[in-house]
Amino acid sequence: MKKERVIIIGSGPAGLTAALYVARAQLDPLVIVGKQLGGQVAITHEVENYPGFVDGIGGPELIDVMQKQAERFGARYDYSEVVSVDFKNGPPFIVRTHSDEYEAESVVITAGASPRTLDIPGEKEFVGRGVSYCGTCDGFFFRGKDVVVVGGGDSALEEGVFLTRFANKVEVIHRRDTLRAGPALQNRAFANDKVSFEWNTVVKEIRGNGKVDEILLENRETGETRTHATDGVFIFIGHYPNSNFLAGEVEMDEEGYVITDEQMRTSVPGIFAAGEIQDPIYRQVATSVGQGCAAGMQVEKYLTGREDIGWT
Ligand code: NAP
Repeated sequence: MKKERVIIIGSGPAGLTAALYVARAQLDPLVIVGKQLGGQVAITHEVENYPGFVDGIGGPELIDVMQKQAERFGARYDYSEVVSVDFKNGPPFIVRTHSDEYEAESVVITAGASPRTLDIPGEKEFVGRGVSYCGTCDGFFFRGKDVVVVGGGDSALEEGVFLTRFANKVEVIHRRDTLRAGPALQNRAFANDKVSFEWNTVVKEIRGNGKVDEILLENRETGETRTHATDGVFIFIGHYPNSNFLAGEVEMDEEGYVITDEQMRTSVPGIFAAGEIQDPIYRQVATSVGQGCAAGMQVEKYLTGREDIGWT
């Protein structure tokens, strides 16, 4: 059993910011990185709305500097994934990865969220062979091809516009006739000649032979179905929290988001959460950074017995 003062589960903007604050408080945090260093931001082509970068900054680049900044103050990284925890009998709290078992005095959960799936025939089968959840990762493979984007939120339009760098044509398939995305992204998508829209339409099936060739569409108003030839299906229909490993250990809502109070405290004293694992609403780098900062500061308060005295 390895002993740690503070373990941070996850390495997105919330986790790396918590690590920075905990490290600067001389509490020597260990960040258990998870599947992907940096989480979703690491596979985001460009972040345009994180303050401080006039011309935006690449997602991987932003994560790289955040990681180095926390490291400069003493944060350490374990490049593995947490498989289970035991918070009920702590402190010390138990955190298990595939290869190690840790004891920690305090834990910050920043395990983030993952893209939701359509759960239709053909989707799983064609992942990596035409079905994708990440334009930044896979756009390059669709140079000169026709692709569809499923969804009507900010992600769908942002990624859809990004995909026009590679694809010949990007058709956005949305289940309603009004978009959920904000006006800035809507304007950008409407102004792009390569982007078109299919309204009130859902994808019922993804078909192909070794790779995606066509999809089956249904018009939700008329019930009419038709096939539509395409080379790629990019799905951006929201996210779910990566909280399976926490079942029964901290309070969560019905969708699996960890419940925190305004000071990022979970239902277990000494366990904090920040970022998309506890935030289904804002989901911005800026909000995750703020929540990670608050969680990091709370860890320091908790470990130095100042939990109830407030800030001066
Ligand atoms: P979202 O806002 O929840 O949008 C999901 C979209 O997918 C909605 O249009 C929804 O349709 C559709 N959808 C959901 N389930 C579906 C299904 N089973 N079949 C077909 N369509 C389905 O998710 P998001 O776009 O990932 O954005 C999440 C959050 O991140 C938002 O707060 C967003 O503002 C933020 N974000 C911001 C930026 C930016 O500011 N640049 C970029 C990306 C994301 P309905 O509209 O009918 O519900």
